[in-house]
Order: sequence, then C-alpha cells, then structure tokens
Amino acid sequence: MSKRDFYEVLGVERGASEAEVKKAYRRLAMKYHPDRNPDDKDAENKFKEATEAYEVLSDADKRAAYDQYGHAGVDPQMGGGAGFGGAGFSDIFGDVFSDFFGGGGGRRGGPQRGSDLRYTMELSLEDAVRGKTVEIRVPTLVECKPCEGSGAKKGTKPVTCTTCNGMGQVRMQQGFFAVQQTCPRCHGSGQVITEPCTSCNGQGRVEESKTLSVKVPAGVDTGDRIRLTGEGEAGAHGGPAGDLYVVVNVKPHDIFERDGRNLHCEVPISIVDATLGGELEVPTLDGRVKLKIPEGTQTGKLFRLRGKGVTPVRGGGVGDLICRVVVETPVKLNKRQRELLEELRESLQGDQSHSPRASGWFDGMKRFFGDNK
Ligand SMILES: [Zn+2]
Ligand SMILES: [Zn+2]
Repeated sequence: MSKRDFYEVLGVERGASEAEVKKAYRRLAMKYHPDRNPDDKDAENKFKEATEAYEVLSDADKRAAYDQYGHAGVDPQMGGGAGFGGAGFSDIFGDVFSDFFGGGGGRRGGPQRGSDLRYTMELSLEDAVRGKTVEIRVPTLVECKPCEGSGAKKGTKPVTCTTCNGMGQVRMQQGFFAVQQTCPRCHGSGQVITEPCTSCNGQGRVEESKTLSVKVPAGVDTGDRIRLTGEGEAGAHGGPAGDLYVVVNVKPHDIFERDGRNLHCEVPISIVDATLGGELEVPTLDGRVKLKIPEGTQTGKLFRLRGKGVTPVRGGGVGDLICRVVVETPVKLNKRQRELLEELRESLQGDQSHSPRASGWFDGMKRFFGDNK
C-alpha cells in the first residue's frame, strides 16, 4: 500500500505557500468531510488522506523533512518502536475551520470524534507471510467509567453555561462588526461542569492501556495497515471513538529478502560444486529443498524455485524464491590442497576455453586500449 505524494493529494505545487496549502486542504475537507458523506468509505479515505497530507505540509519542520526524505521523513514510526501519530483530527480541524465556521454559526465543542491512533507492529518475515494473531497493548484514552464520560462528578450533571446560554458561542462587538466567538467559559460545549469528576478531572476520558488481539492476515508486507474500527481514542463530549491503525513493519531476515511476491536469497557454493555441478540444500520458508547446480555454474547465476515465494495479502498467486549463487573462494588450505590447486593451475594454463568470462574480458580490454591509443 504505497502512499500518494502529499502535494499530489492536495493538488498543489511543491513550492505552494502556506495559504495555498491551507486553502487546498479546506476545499478537500469540505468536500469529503464524513459529516457530509455519511457511510461513504471512499470519501472518508480521501478525507483522511488529505488530512494526513495537510498535517505534514502545514508544519514547516515536517514539510522540510518530507521534501528531503519523502514519507519516511515524516513517519513518526520510522526507526521502530511502538507509538502514536501526532495531532488528531480535531486539532487540525480547529486550526483550519475556526475562522471558517466562526461566523457561520457552526458550533464547535459538541461531540467530537476521538483521534485515530497508529501502532507499529514489528513482525518477522515468517509471521508476515503466514499470518498470525498478535496481542498488542495500546495506551489510549477511554471513556471515564465513574462519570460515564460526562466529566461531572457522580450524581451531578453539567449545567448550562450562563455566559453563552448554552450556545457555545458569544457575540463580540468590534467596531461595526459583530463577531461570533467560541465561548471562553465553556470552550464551546455550552455546558459547564461545576463539580468535576475526580477520576478524570472533568475530562470525561482517562488514559488506559488496553490489550487487543489483532488478526494479521497472511501475506502482509511493510507499510500495510490493519484498521481496527472504534479502537482509537474515545470521543470527547459523547462523540464516537476514533480508529486504530496497526501498521506492519517486517523485520529484516537473516536469509531472505522480500520483493513483493518473490523472495530472494544468496547461496554460497564451493568452487568444486560450481565447477563439477552438484546438489545443494537451499532454505525456503517451508524448510529445505534440494537444488541441482549444473556444471560450470558462475557466480551471479539465478535459480528460480517456483511457488516458494509469498502469496500477497491482496491475492494474485504465490511468487517464487530466487536464489543467487555466489562461488566461494576456499581459504586456509593445507599443504596437500595447495598442491592440488597448483597442479590444476598448471593444467589450465594457456587454455582460455576453460575461462569463458576471462577470455571475453581480455578481448574487451584489448579493444578498449586499442581504441584509445
Ligand atoms: Zn459558554
Ligand atoms: Zn470522570
């Protein structure tokens, strides 16, 4: 699942000004906002994508890092470890929409969806290929039980804010203009808690670690995301919870390197096996298999073991295991072994037909110096 370029997402030039970025995001956010597109997954995804892009491009530091290193530069999870993405929706929202909705009577401070969270799951190649159910512990904000999320002490209720009469907004006269502003007393909720709940200090949410069982499907790869709906942060003021995104990071493997559906590995072979041919044992994810090496095998030759690769999570059939042969020079020879090789050297001397590569190389060298003299 490769991410689109953030500039492309917002439809702005790379040199776009802060104002242009903001304007572009606003346009997309207005169009794809979940409130305007209920039950439209596509719109929701577009909205999230735009939000993520805006989160980075609106921040000078993050934008510089993104310009230099791409997505890797702004991914808070790069470098491993579990953690969570920075600003939630609501933070960005406040910034972009405060002045936008300010005069229009759009009421803020009402139910707010909880932030989406992100968790990086480190997996071995084997687990990523085969799939696994993994238990993870996630710190998150959950609804405070004693006050049921209201923030008011048990037995009490939030009361209507007298400053704004429950509107959440107050009118301020500035010269000729009447300006609507978020009520400074209740911060837009229209309600005030007189006796805060002692468990959550009136926040309505408390931080808690929860254990989740995540079913990782077979064939996932680094960068794939598993979405756990409603497992993000609890919403504020009775809003719905956000989602938790588990992002897969496959650890490097000692033997195999994955490239999409194919696996690659290097297989060292002795000069004797390479010369005379032989049978090798090569590793696959399902155990060892035998591989026949024909005589005269050179370093770099690729052997393809069909069907010994990976079945990607999105389907499309199993890939291959591609073994690259590396002929190994023997070391620490004893006297007898040296003698044998000396004998071999003598016997090979002067006959280029034993060295297809070297003879081609010498021809090339002659032509090269001939042309340049
Ligand atoms: Zn108020
Ligand atoms: Zn509470």
